[in-house]
Amino acid sequence: MDILKLADEIIQGKRLKRTDDLSFFKNVDLDELCHGADLIREKLCGNRVELCSIINGRSGRCSENCKFCAQSAHHHTDVQVYDFLAEEKIIDDCEYHDKKGVHRYSIVTAGRTLEGEDLEKACKAYKRMYEKFSIKLCASHGILTKDAFIRLKDSGVSMYHENIETSKRNFPNICTTHNFEDKINGIKLAHEVGLSVCSGGIIGMGEFFEDRIDMALTLAEFEVESIPINALMPIEGTGCGGIEVLSENEILRTTAMFRYLNPESSIRLAAGRILMENSGAKAFKAGVNATITGDMLTTSGNNIDEDKDMLISLGFEI
Ligand code: SF4
Repeated sequence: MDILKLADEIIQGKRLKRTDDLSFFKNVDLDELCHGADLIREKLCGNRVELCSIINGRSGRCSENCKFCAQSAHHHTDVQVYDFLAEEKIIDDCEYHDKKGVHRYSIVTAGRTLEGEDLEKACKAYKRMYEKFSIKLCASHGILTKDAFIRLKDSGVSMYHENIETSKRNFPNICTTHNFEDKINGIKLAHEVGLSVCSGGIIGMGEFFEDRIDMALTLAEFEVESIPINALMPIEGTGCGGIEVLSENEILRTTAMFRYLNPESSIRLAAGRILMENSGAKAFKAGVNATITGDMLTTSGNNIDEDKDMLISLGFEI
């Protein structure tokens, strides 16, 4: 496989499909694969890196059994447990990130869904943030009804986060309290009401590389605009505690492959940056053009100013 020729064809408009033989992604030369992904990113997405931050708006006691998650009531972890945060706390945190020049901000809530009083609280907070700040708003509240999506959109949210987590084949190994179709329905409904979609998953949970390819193809087929890639940070007490973490090269091979299959989407580094040297600097030369950042995040392991400095030194615009 001439991977640089393929990158050029993608830049010219070729799109890889499920019917293509994609097995070469597993063992093609990594440096060339990353270089090709970087060329695709540069030509089709430009030189700007998008920064986003999140606040955990409601934590713990989740009814779902996602194997990796510290917030599931099925697992025994020392995660903080609290109800929906006070509105002022969210507004203050959003203002901080807006002033720091972060581009997107999201409330994330634990739980299967968001409804009733907590949905009202979220919509009220989104409305205030939309009116006060220029930061773009995202939301991540589990499996929602169409009405709830409309409420979020009317409150100023522009993008909905709904990870598919892994491939359709592997999903039942990760979660059995909801299914892959619930995720796909969420993506379809969010698009239907006019929201952009941020959907990716977690790598390193015991899946095959083919599962990651399948995941990237699914996201391409549903024209997902933003794809967060988390490398598993195993948490003791969850179903993933004790799993060996991925190597930096394995993460880079994955981000680069995602760029070939989703050439115009934002490929977003999320949890697990700490597993890579210099907070994942090489990944920004392997197809990545967005990242989660934040001064309070423990999973990314770095803060906003450090991220900005690193990205500028790599030649990116913020
Ligand atoms: S639904 Fe969300 S909060 Fe609940 S266990 Fe799954 S990932 Fe964790």
